[in-house]
Amino acid sequence: MTADKTRKEEGATSLLNAINQHPLAGNDYLACIQCGRCVGSCPAAKVSEKFNMRVINQRIIENDTTLLADETIWDCFYCQSCVNLCPRDNIDSYKTILILRDLALDQGHGLQHMKNILPIMRWYIEKGVLTDGPSWMEPRALDEVRKINEITGLNERVHGLEQKLRKASAAKE
Ligand code: SF4
Ligand code: SF4
Repeated sequence: MTADKTRKEEGATSLLNAINQHPLAGNDYLACIQCGRCVGSCPAAKVSEKFNMRVINQRIIENDTTLLADETIWDCFYCQSCVNLCPRDNIDSYKTILILRDLALDQGHGLQHMKNILPIMRWYIEKGVLTDGPSWMEPRALDEVRKINEITGLNERVHGLEQKLRKASAAKE
């Protein structure tokens, strides 16, 4: 069984295990003292009534698998203020959100949030640039970018998400 498959399957049964098997893992959720500093400094919490990083950490500790289907995990702006203010060195809430979103997408949640970004990623994969115009990259540099995208699995990930999004859109019609 591949590591990726294990991660997806465990996401359905054990959220904490799935998070800890993610390539970005490393947070010690049990170290969270529920102080709420991550919420006080969070711009997303100011505009989204339900978004609360302290509660998200608590739900992870409680192994609440419904978190992956919770729309609020898409409210974070990735500003990292929570990371700077958390009194614990071994908790990085920014990474937590990255992991949760990745696991959510694995399970088919939150695909609508990828609708605008996927075409940009597709341009990047094909032309090495983030715009819908001709590529200005030197052919050798573009080859390097393509190799990196292949090695890192970006091509496969984008392709998989494009397919999932297409299926989800077709099912709605
Ligand atoms: S600031 Fe850190 S320790 Fe405090 S609630 Fe947030 S994650 Fe937990
Ligand atoms: S990275 Fe996300 S969770 Fe952390 S303070 Fe910024 S918006 Fe809030």
